[in-house]
Amino acid sequence: MESKLPHLGTSIFTYMTGLANQHNALNLSQGFPEFDAPVLLKQRLAHYSEQGFNQYSPSSGIAPLQKQISALIKRKYGLDIEAADTVTVTSGATEALFVAIQAITRPGDEIIIFDPAYDSYEPAIELAGGRAVHIALQAPDYSVNWQQVAEAVNDKTRAIIINSPHNPSAKTLKANDFKALKALLIRHDLLLISDEVYEHIAFDDTPHISVLNDAELFARAFVISSFGKTFHCTGWKMGYCIAPKLLTAEFRKIHQYVTFSSFTPAQLALADMLAEQGEHVDELSGFYQQKRDVLVDALQGSRFTILPSEGTYFLLLDYSEISQLDDMAFCEYLVKEVGVAAIPLSVFYQKAPNDKVIRLCFAKKDETLVEAADKLCTL
Ligand code: PMP
Ligand code: GLN
Repeated sequence: MESKLPHLGTSIFTYMTGLANQHNALNLSQGFPEFDAPVLLKQRLAHYSEQGFNQYSPSSGIAPLQKQISALIKRKYGLDIEAADTVTVTSGATEALFVAIQAITRPGDEIIIFDPAYDSYEPAIELAGGRAVHIALQAPDYSVNWQQVAEAVNDKTRAIIINSPHNPSAKTLKANDFKALKALLIRHDLLLISDEVYEHIAFDDTPHISVLNDAELFARAFVISSFGKTFHCTGWKMGYCIAPKLLTAEFRKIHQYVTFSSFTPAQLALADMLAEQGEHVDELSGFYQQKRDVLVDALQGSRFTILPSEGTYFLLLDYSEISQLDDMAFCEYLVKEVGVAAIPLSVFYQKAPNDKVIRLCFAKKDETLVEAADKLCTL
């Protein structure tokens, strides 16, 4: 059979985690927490399953979870949303991204994405018959040149995908970025997909700016989040998409045939978690900022150049003083010879720059971070 995606292989996360396991290395490559989900969340999951809540839920999600999500949005971003018409619970942010892209992309449409870009955007665009237009952000700053974005817009442009806080650069978009973005979207009547899976992980007392902070931006947007990141349960694959009523209607037409509905006991447990322990969400930035600082402090004696991490649970390191290997070869060397698995940045680019930058995930126990840093300090 002729492949629909001939240029795609196995994802870098599967590859690097496989290598880490094979070589018994500390796995700071694939982004997932080394610590467990909150006790209440696990107890409620078991409870609801035990109580017999094991059948399909409504396709767009159970009402108590939709209600808790809209209460969180109101509390965090001040926006009133009508949950029943705008909030759709999905099987992870990955599903939400895929469905949103399918919902808006017509054959020949162009969707602008920023490199380094999370790896699921482009295949979803291609499968919908569209074309991803890549705008490369430059190390070490990774800021967006909005003039360059404006120049990439043409008659075929349908939407822009943003991701703040950004995986893998750990950069966040600022108020001036949103101002420029909004002007562009309105001028060209474009849609927006905002991947905000790290919305609750923003550092140094700089609150996350959401598309939901701005009713005008939200009017043309799909805002996507992930409970996996927020509640340390990436394996549950639970997330959601918030979009205005008309966009949600299109989103739901597809969601119902991709998966119909998401894991019922997890929805009930997440609704309880948000209602009873909402402080977990508020404490997440501080929790991860401490982890970032443990890793940064432990790397002080190393020859890596540490790039700023403004949010997410990732930290970029420039290794140009240590090796001239390309970043994939350097990561393979690290995992095999040094015992630390990392992700090379070049895999997130259409045209990889010759940067010598790798990504570490610091959603790990402090002792793992210190042990990994000790190994890296030997280089
Ligand atoms: N977007 C970004 C930027 C991510 O880092 C991730 C998680 N790796 C996702 C989307 C997917 O989230 P989920 O695991 O909920 O599908
Ligand atoms: N989002 C995670 C990361 O960036 C990985 C998700 C996955 O394995 N697909 O590392």
